[in-house]
Amino acid sequence: QPLDIADPIRTQAILRRYGFQFKKSLGQNFLTNKAVLNGILDAADLQPTDLVVEIGPGIGSLTEQLARRVKQVVAVEIDERLLPILADTLAPYNNIEVVHQDILKTSLAELTANYPDHGAIKVVANLPYYITTPIMFSLINGEVQPDVLVLMMQKEVAQRITANSGNKHYGSLSIDVQTQMTAEIAQIVPRTSFVPQPNVDSAVLVLQRYQHSPYQIDHPEMFSTIVKSSFQQRRKSLQNNLANLFGKDKREQITQIITELDLPAQVRAEQLPIQKFIDLSNACFTTFA
Ligand code: SAM
Repeated sequence: QPLDIADPIRTQAILRRYGFQFKKSLGQNFLTNKAVLNGILDAADLQPTDLVVEIGPGIGSLTEQLARRVKQVVAVEIDERLLPILADTLAPYNNIEVVHQDILKTSLAELTANYPDHGAIKVVANLPYYITTPIMFSLINGEVQPDVLVLMMQKEVAQRITANSGNKHYGSLSIDVQTQMTAEIAQIVPRTSFVPQPNVDSAVLVLQRYQHSPYQIDHPEMFSTIVKSSFQQRRKSLQNNLANLFGKDKREQITQIITELDLPAQVRAEQLPIQKFIDLSNACFTTFA
């Protein structure tokens, strides 16, 4: 019985046998920590009927563990040098399809089309960090929506995504994600868990689709414009940022809206819970649109 691919000894042996050179530009940091790997698998709450899409299988460490637990894995890898390696390391599994593609140029709809019969659709990945947010949003906003996403990413990005109002990490990224999915950090992962070691620590982020969304956004364009503008200059008051958006001559109306929302006149965007941004955008829509 060979060691798991993620075992540091097996990983080193594979890398040596193929003379594999890491490409920093592709965010190649391979996971060799079994405890972290198990944490990812637990966070995904895998079921035998699941269809899992993995982004960037590398040499297959996570892919192998997924294949042992779910019905089908579709793994999307951009680096063609990894294809023969994956064909070798994943040969024992008959429920893995490796797709040679740029994840940003394909979609969940395309990737899952061959597998109509399945339970939940989950995305599980140790992401290439240079494109974390574009990948995440293309998955959240695509035509086929995953039930769950379990994504390893840079710790600071996961902290920004999960932050609530009042927290220094809270901002438009937190709001853009949390209005669509629940977000929590399952574990913080030290940089020593990877080869080669990245310069930053990581975190496993879990995004789940809401059963019943607590947020009803009636004017999505106004909402996202307001959120973006409100955080444009974080240290300035909400009032000032909104005056930049709607015009200095609208100051009085802006002050009135803020007062009517029971907010202090000098409130800053990072103090506003998501629901207040929704109320604010409704009021601005009525007044200015
Ligand atoms: N899953 C492996 C692991 O955990 O050891 C590798 C993770 S590594 C952080 C990121 C992987 O994503 C690499 O295999 C890299 O080649 C791949 N990758 C980078 N950019 C990609 C893209 N645009 N589309 C698909 N895969 C990509």
